[in-house]
Amino acid sequence: MSLIAPHGGNLVNRVIEGVAAQNLAKEAAGLTAMALSPREQFDLEMIAIGAFSPLAGFQGEADFTGVCKNMRLASGVVWPIPVTLAPANEIAAGISKGQRVALQDGKGRLLGVLTVTDKYHHDKKLEIPNVYRTEDEKHPGVAQVIKQGETCLGGPIDVLTTTHEPEFAEHRLPPAATRQAFAQKGWSTVAAFQTRNPIHRSHEYLTKCALEMTDGLLIHPLVGETKSDDIPADIRMACYKVLVDNYYNASRTMLSVMPLAMRYAGPREAVLHTLIRKNYGITHFIVGRDHAGVGTYYGTYDAQKIFDQFDVPKDIGVTILKFEHTAWCKKCAAVVSTKTCPHGPEDKVSPSGTKVRELLKAGQRPPSEFSRPEVADILIKWAQAVA
Ligand SMILES: [Zn+2]
Repeated sequence: MSLIAPHGGNLVNRVIEGVAAQNLAKEAAGLTAMALSPREQFDLEMIAIGAFSPLAGFQGEADFTGVCKNMRLASGVVWPIPVTLAPANEIAAGISKGQRVALQDGKGRLLGVLTVTDKYHHDKKLEIPNVYRTEDEKHPGVAQVIKQGETCLGGPIDVLTTTHEPEFAEHRLPPAATRQAFAQKGWSTVAAFQTRNPIHRSHEYLTKCALEMTDGLLIHPLVGETKSDDIPADIRMACYKVLVDNYYNASRTMLSVMPLAMRYAGPREAVLHTLIRKNYGITHFIVGRDHAGVGTYYGTYDAQKIFDQFDVPKDIGVTILKFEHTAWCKKCAAVVSTKTCPHGPEDKVSPSGTKVRELLKAGQRPPSEFSRPEVADILIKWAQAVA
């Protein structure tokens, strides 16, 4: 039994330990220091643990340009979204190529050291329309890029501490640990489900359809930076736990979190989410409707169509499980998709997001065909506390 190879061939590990770590900390104390933005901190962790393999650091100019234009690194390996370090202009001005820089979190605590091999103009006019397919400043991903500096620093990082505040530490498994767990369980095929929302019946159905085809299922919520109106990660985690405990086969299901900051880049982000999960050791990836989208910037199935631009077995190496919109059908008495059920929308239990929020705030569970009661109860408590 063998696990899938990481993206680019080797699982990166940029975490320094032991005597080397002591020496690096000593050196860092004498270096120019730079505080990372929340997104850059999550990216540092993703690089260090190998979730962003083959990246060993923040991207240099050739990679940045290739990624924006062709969704490829300079090496030719597929990579859809830039991973940049672009500090405030006055900070970038004081740093030159070849320099080593201490990287800190927002509270001034040391995370690691960057060796600057590239310093280049941050071509936002290239990045924004290519990656986000819009230049609208209201798009949360576009807004983030606009906020970044005008100069990018690229180069490998050596990391001492991936984060000083690891939320959900017991579920925050790096790729090496999920791979080890899959091997121990004897799973050679594993489906992953990315989510930044509570899982309701329709998504539970997708995950279970996937698990019917594979040895195991990884429920892999994103816990990095999200929009302020997304449901907070701790509430979502409570929902995932109660759902898995009550409705999934524990011997076939794993719940772990991923510290990635959302870009809301829709189709390109679906590709990124897939490649990252390949590094975690999965072989099948669920892409539903509106994957990683926001507002109405992307077509409902754009995140599935983008994979047509690749030679998927060669370039991506993961089986993409494309699902259509699903909901409970009263006539079928089951969760169905537009692909499997002949009945119309009037037979579906599919309350709008606004309707669900109203019910929760009023202390009422949405229909059990839409949401499991245990999940609904957690969301009711949260909705009433924030109301
Ligand atoms: Zn039906």
